Amino acid sequence: MTFLAQRDSSRDPVSVTSPRREKIPALVVSGFLGSGKTTLVRHLLASAQRSGVRVAVVSNELGELGIDRALLGSGGEAFVELEGGCVCCELSDDLIETLEQLHEQVDPDRIVIETSGVALPFDTTLNFWRDPVRRWIGEDTAVVVVNAEQLAEGRDLSGTFEDQVGSADLLVLNKLDLIPADGHDAVEATLRGIEPEAPIVRCERGVVPVELLFPPDPGEKDRSGAAPAAPAHSHEHFRTEELQLPEGVTESEIVERLSRPGLLRAKGWALTPEGPVLVQVVGRRVETTADEPPDPALLGRLVLIERA
Ligand SMILES: [Zn+2]
Repeated sequence: MTFLAQRDSSRDPVSVTSPRREKIPALVVSGFLGSGKTTLVRHLLASAQRSGVRVAVVSNELGELGIDRALLGSGGEAFVELEGGCVCCELSDDLIETLEQLHEQVDPDRIVIETSGVALPFDTTLNFWRDPVRRWIGEDTAVVVVNAEQLAEGRDLSGTFEDQVGSADLLVLNKLDLIPADGHDAVEATLRGIEPEAPIVRCERGVVPVELLFPPDPGEKDRSGAAPAAPAHSHEHFRTEELQLPEGVTESEIVERLSRPGLLRAKGWALTPEGPVLVQVVGRRVETTADEPPDPALLGRLVLIERA
């Protein structure tokens, strides 16, 4: 775990030990591998900073390279990364410990938990009913980000995806820019077929009105009773692996090495003859964009996620 937060000395130090007037609302951002969660959280952080809302982010990834921290961690907000597992199951104790630390040391206005792409949002929110965080976590919202292209291709729509979508309070239909405009209604109808009730917001590049995710008055939540019963679901098993790419690897070599059956997601930086690029694989789509890693040690290393 990396803990980047500095205690803000301008805050009233008494607030750490005395009872809070209000609980802190928590937003869980979930979504299948490659749906655009990190982009959405980045947009959210930028909006929150402009409006003066103090946000603490817990980011969870299955791989262990710290890529998401590198993408997000420069905003000066509290940011903790839990890596090498999933917060809805094997890392749930670490999640509780991290949340409690953030509460004591940062005392943010809002908590955002960006789960791994295989986590189940309902199982993640069940942790809010555990001691000691149940005393101070207020209203929780589960947002599930959906990749419109994945829907259009009919790829990986059962199992984890279905479970995630079925427990969303709000569905963000993202990446609509990747499919033709006349196909937008059809992908929304497909999503509606999987989850009949949750509101759907259409979106490109993770740009969602911040008021939808952070309502101005989220209200309180009494967590003194028992946690709700978990619906039946299957947590599928996924495997992560690191792929090293040699210096000078070309874009076509990258595409070739990443065109392998069963690969769901890959992310990392490579050094091509044209310079450093950020490599992102979602399903069959391999994307490279000119970009430099904030830490040179990340260059030439990709995290791959496949079904186990
Ligand atoms: Zn899990």
